[in-house]
Formats: sequence, structure tokens, C-alpha cells
Amino acid sequence: MEKEEISKEIERLRKELEYHNYRYYVLDDPVVTDQEYDGLFRELEHLETENPEFADMNSPTQRVGTVPLDAFKTVQHTVPMLSLQNAMTEDEVRDFHKRVLKILSTPDVEYVMEVKIDGLAVELVYIDGEFTLGSTRGDGYAGEDITQNLRTIRSIPMRLRSDDIPVPERLEVRGEVYMGKKEFLALNEHRELTGEPLFANPRNAAAGSIRQLDPRITAERKLNVFCYAMGRITGMEFPNHMDFLLHLQKWGFRVNPYVKLCRSIDDAVAHYRYIRSIREDMPYEIDGTVIKVNRTDHQSDLGTVSRSPRWAIAYKFEAREETTTVEDIAVSVGRTGALTPVAFLKPVIVGGVEVSRATLHNEDEIARKDIRVGDSVIVTRAGDVIPEVVRVIDGYRPGRKEPFTMPVNCPVCGEPVVRPPGEAIRRCVNISCPAQIKGTIEHFASKRAMDIDGLGTKLIEQMVDRGTIRDVSDLYFIKKETLAGMERMADRSAQNIIDAIEASKKRPFSRFIYALGIRQVGEHVAGLLAERFNSIDTLMAADISTLIAIPEIGPEAANSITAFFGDPKNHGTIERILSAGIVLEYEQQGNKKLGGLTFVFTGSLSSMSRDQARIAVEELGAKTASSISKKVDYVVTGEEAGSKLDKARQLGIRILTEQEFLQMIEKP
Ligand code: NAD
Repeated sequence: MEKEEISKEIERLRKELEYHNYRYYVLDDPVVTDQEYDGLFRELEHLETENPEFADMNSPTQRVGTVPLDAFKTVQHTVPMLSLQNAMTEDEVRDFHKRVLKILSTPDVEYVMEVKIDGLAVELVYIDGEFTLGSTRGDGYAGEDITQNLRTIRSIPMRLRSDDIPVPERLEVRGEVYMGKKEFLALNEHRELTGEPLFANPRNAAAGSIRQLDPRITAERKLNVFCYAMGRITGMEFPNHMDFLLHLQKWGFRVNPYVKLCRSIDDAVAHYRYIRSIREDMPYEIDGTVIKVNRTDHQSDLGTVSRSPRWAIAYKFEAREETTTVEDIAVSVGRTGALTPVAFLKPVIVGGVEVSRATLHNEDEIARKDIRVGDSVIVTRAGDVIPEVVRVIDGYRPGRKEPFTMPVNCPVCGEPVVRPPGEAIRRCVNISCPAQIKGTIEHFASKRAMDIDGLGTKLIEQMVDRGTIRDVSDLYFIKKETLAGMERMADRSAQNIIDAIEASKKRPFSRFIYALGIRQVGEHVAGLLAERFNSIDTLMAADISTLIAIPEIGPEAANSITAFFGDPKNHGTIERILSAGIVLEYEQQGNKKLGGLTFVFTGSLSSMSRDQARIAVEELGAKTASSISKKVDYVVTGEEAGSKLDKARQLGIRILTEQEFLQMIEKP
């Protein structure tokens, strides 16, 4: 390559890497896999080493992460938080070892091997044993103040334990905040339900969760931490890294159990292989191991280069990527009604597991990657996450078919699907769609919804497959004998489930709303709706403008709620559930204008229908009744009021004309 071309190529790679850094570190939403990123990074590194005249301190190869976001206060790190050199092969690790020996002029050296947790680095500062400040790594020199968010992570000690160990005046500890695989899958499942964009992997989910402006959101995200490094520590020195880790444990920090002292580089390589073999079974994602020189004096002698210490190296796992062919593209309907295009692949082993299907996410993603039947593609697998098609291999594509188009009707129930404006996913909104029934029922019965104990996935599957239940309302009409006829279902267990269903008939209104599984309506939004509406009828009748007027409810959620209640099938299902004697516990409406009052309407009103009148008073916190009793506070009379009026007079209940009633419900 000519020098000019090289310079252009270097510039192009720098720009591209900067863009990926921004997507990854600022938006927590990468558009390429780590392997692709690492490939570009190495390409740039190589060109820069070969052509030192184009060196630039601002090149991504010289810098760590990106500058902190303005939204957070900036925290200067006393000791820079650096990145790590990377090795992809055993040869590279042995080269690292040779360099270490050479600089230290010693025949051998001890290492500590740790797992490389795929999360994000944070610094925790303790003054006199109290947690006082927490920050992200940022660009290595300054990070974001996320103290309040870190306080929500239970495994971070707020006060150091000091039973048999002194506590330094200032202690800076570094660690990795991460999200476990199970928690990650549950979070994405929930986000799919509420229509929020999914996180690409646990690392991005952890980063997105810890960099929240509202710590309450962080608190819900079930993050965890492992500590592994130090910043500045006053008045204490440690002869080696292992000794430091032991101190961390005694102070009450969480230290990863897979730490190993390796007497030689062979030892380290062997331990790496062991860790790689158990990687899939770990409850959190790791993307390699980290080899650290153990002795502190050795570490100081080795020092640091621009973006990483010379005494440590990340020994990464090889990419879980393979090449194969797309044999077909089909659409599956998830439990939330989301239509997901799936690629059927020529089976291929990726990281030890056979892969024959991979998600294509949505139609925009297929178009962006231009994936078609017959294409040769690269597939990847990240932990327990579903395999994914990374990209099409360019070049001659003889078997190429037409671009794939998404169906306009649900492939399972045939109902038309909707793609709300601004969303990438088409959905089937028919609550009775067989593909969704199992998931809908499971969600309805789940602990935080109607909490029907014992109604697990297997049983639900059996019941749906046998046609015993077709929607959630059938649950309330199921007979014990029918249940007892299911596989592995003793008489006693059947009775327990019947009892659990019975017990679920009394639940707070907010849980019932959540249980319906309306898209965009998670527990929080369900709570807001329950606060605003004091009956299911008023909620079902609410229009978009009423919903948008509720703080925190946006147009997307409002649209999804009205679409849900606008579907006559969903209406029918809810009415059937209610007819089974469900008692919804409504929020205390005492502080609303008509809170605690009960109204009866008789005769027809001229300015509104009886239903509208009922909704109007319920929105103001009142209840309505259909017959007169002592509990009734007001009877509203319209034209041709009947016998109710006489009874009201007998009981001395206040009677309102339509005019008086309208004045009463008028907004202040
Ligand atoms: P890195 O992830 O390769 O290694 C350094 C980091 O490892 C540390 O900062 C720390 O957070 C972490 N770590 C985990 N366990 C550790 C342990 N036991 N001891 C020490 N450190 C430990 O480097 P980086 O600078 O954080 O990120 C660069 C990497 O991020 C790239 O190699 C790439 O894989 C990924 N990345 C991807 C994209 C993308 O678009 N996909 C963009 C930017 C970066």
C-alpha cells in the first residue's frame, strides 16, 4: 500500500472504531460484535506499529473507553483506570511472558490468574471504612459519579469489616459490575413484553443499568460485583496481588472464587483451559481470563504503557463464530406476540454447541444485514444467549433468493399483525392466539402477577395442548377432576392448584393490570394505572389523551393500552375472568374529589350516557352501585326515573338532578 493509502486507511479505521466506542460505551448499544471490534482494533494497531509516522495520541489504540457523560458529575481517578493488553492465542501469552522475564531480568515469575468478567469497571472509594464515592472508568482518567446507583448493589459493602484487619484512611477498590446470565435473560424477556429495546448482551445490560439517572431503576436490575484491583490506598502496602485479594475478602468485598496462583506460565495456560471448559456453566459471562504478575515490586518495575499495565494481560477466549449457510427463514411467534424472523441454518458447531437456528431479530435487522436464503453467513453465540447471524459473507452468491418479507398476518392464528410506528417489531395482539396462550397464562399466573402457586410451565403446556384452557379466563372455570387427569398430577396436587386459583381471585388492581400482559405495561406502569383509575371499567374505557395525561405514560404505552382494550376478544376474556368472582382491590381513592362516595344512576341523562356518567364519577374516586341501599350516598336522576327514586327517598338518600350532578363532577 502507498503511504497515502495507508494514512487514509488508518484514518478510516480510527473513525470507525470511534463510532463503535460511542455505541458501546456511551449508548450501551453496540452494532458490531466484540470479535469484529477486536479485529478492526488489531488491524489499526498493526498499521500504526508498521507506520509510526502516523502515530496519534488520540487514536483509539492509545485511549481507554470514552469521556464521561455530562449527565453525571465527573470524578477524577487518583490513579488512572487502564484497559488491558489482549492475547488471543497461546503464542501471544508466551510472548507476554518472555517480555516480562526480560524486563525483570529474572528466570521465572509467579502469576495470578483471574476470570475476565464481562461487565464494566467501577471504582469504589472508602474513607475511614465508609463507602463515599463510586464511579465508572470513563476515559480512564475521569469517570461518571454513580455513587447512588452503586449503593443499590447489595454485594458492595457500605462499611468495611474491620474485625481482624486494619482499615486504611482512604481505600480505592476496583471491580467489575455485571449482570448474571439468568438476570439478563429475565430482563430482556421483560423488556420484550413492555416493548423496550433489548440489550445485546449482559455487559451492555449492566452498563445501561448502572448508568441510570434514576437509582430506582438500577435497584430493579439485579446487578452484582466482583472486586479485583486497587487504586490509591493510604498507609498500607501489599507484598503481592494475592495478599491484596485476601484483604479485599476480609474487608467484605466479593472476590471471584476462580482466582488461582500460578507458579509458571504453563500453569497459567492449563488453568485458562480449565476455565474455558467450565465457561458455559458459569452463572455470569466471562470473555477470557486475566493473567497478572503477582509480586507488587515486579508490577512497579514493569510499569504501564499508554493504555494498559505491562504486568497484566487479558487472555481472551476465541470467538464463538462459525460460517454456515441460511437454508430457510421462518417467523416464530413469541409468548408476547412478537413475530421474530428465524434463520434455519445448515447445522454447525459453534463453541462446542450445535447451532441450526439463529435469531434475525426483526425485519430492519434483516434488511440492514441483507440476509437472504442461500447466503453464507457468520454465526455467533454469546453465552446462553440465542445464536445470532453476525453478517453475510460478501462475494459471489449464486444461491441468492429474493429479500425476505414479513407476513402481515400472524402465522399461527391468522389475525392481522401490527407494527406500531417507530417500532421494529410486528406483533400479534390477539390474546387468544395459541402461540401466545401458554406465555400469557404463565405470565398471568406468575408470582408478581396473580400468583397462582403450582401452576408451572409444564402443566400449562399440557393444559393448552389438550385444549383444556384456551385463554386465561378458562383457569377460573377449571374442574379438579380435569386437573387430576393431567400427567403426573395426584389428587392432592390438583386440589392445591384449585385452592391456589381460588386464592388468586383476590388481588390488588395493579397486579391484575400487570397480569394481563399488555405490552409496555410492566409493574411500574400497572401501578400508575391503578392509581389513576379506580375500576377496570374506567381503565378499559380510557382514551389515548386521558392516558397520556398521566405522568410517565407516553404515547407508545397509551397506544398499546388502548389497542389492547379496544380488541373485543380481550374485552370478552376480561369480562369472563370477572364473572368468575374476581375481587380486585382498588387503590385508596380517599384523597380524590369524590373518594369514598357511592352513586346510583336512574333514568336517562341528557348530556351523557349512563356508562359515561359512571366512568366520570369513578375517575373522581367514587364507586357506583346498581341498586339502592343504605351504603349509597347519591342518586342521580335522569328522565323517566323509576322506582329507585322512591326507595332513595324512603332511605333519605340525597337526590341529584342532572344539572346538580354535572356541577359536582365539574373540574375545580
Ligand atoms: P477489555 O474488556 O479487553 O479489558 C479491560 C477490562 O477488563 C477492565 O477495564 C475491566 O473492566 C475488565 N476486567 C474484567 N475482569 C477483570 C479482572 N479480573 N481483572 C482486571 N480487569 C478485569 O478492555 P476494555 O478497554 O474494557 O474494552 C475493550 C473491549 O471492549 C474490546 O476488546 C471489545 O471486545 C469491547 N468493545 C466492543 C465494542 C463493540 O462495538 N462491540 C466497542 C468497544 C469495545
